[in-house]
Amino acid sequence: MKPWQHMKMYFGNIYEAVATIAVGMWITFKTAFFERKVTIQYPSHDVLEGKARDAVTFPEQELNPPFEPFLGASQQQYRGPLQARIADRYRGFLGYREDKCISCNLCVQACPIEVIAVEGVKIEGRKGRAPVMFRIDYSKCMFCGLCVEVCPTSAIFFTRRFAAATFSYHSLIENFISEEMRQQRLELARQLKQKKRSKTIKRNAKDETTHF
Ligand code: SF4
Ligand code: SF4
Repeated sequence: MKPWQHMKMYFGNIYEAVATIAVGMWITFKTAFFERKVTIQYPSHDVLEGKARDAVTFPEQELNPPFEPFLGASQQQYRGPLQARIADRYRGFLGYREDKCISCNLCVQACPIEVIAVEGVKIEGRKGRAPVMFRIDYSKCMFCGLCVEVCPTSAIFFTRRFAAATFSYHSLIENFISEEMRQQRLELARQLKQKKRSKTIKRNAKDETTHF
């Protein structure tokens, strides 16, 4: 490397160090002096009620916080939806879209602590395998995101739901496929197998006839 290139690199590094510190300090300064301070009276200001997937089903749902004078909350002070206070990339409860899932098991394999369980069957008119069981045990999940990263169809994703306090461990295990849907799909899978078997029998019979 020539001497002038050394010099360029030297001053470039100094510039980069100063610039990154300045950006960081600007964000701190801006947050400290210009951003509106809000005390969220949890849980009365929690907009995303219901199950984890509701946060995704109704992403634009507005917060309409009740006025809670006894809790010290002020309707005047609170002007925005709670979702705006939660970062877009916040890792809350996992959500799941069964219509996108192909039961490939990649999320199961990626999960280091066996949080997810999947079972799928082949049915007509559906890409991949249709899920007949998709269970998440939120009590074990460490929100690492490996399952989300590996999913080829974005069927599993993070919502911004965070409320997990419960007295019952079982309430943290969520079955995303209802028993009714499971039975319907198992029946469709049985029909498909039957259809394939009949086709094979017919083909074999035809082959034998041609052979003789
Ligand atoms: S976020 Fe991590 S721990 Fe939780 S289910 Fe996905 S892979 Fe497993
Ligand atoms: S990785 Fe995605 S598509 Fe595959 S089983 Fe998991 S959720 Fe379904």
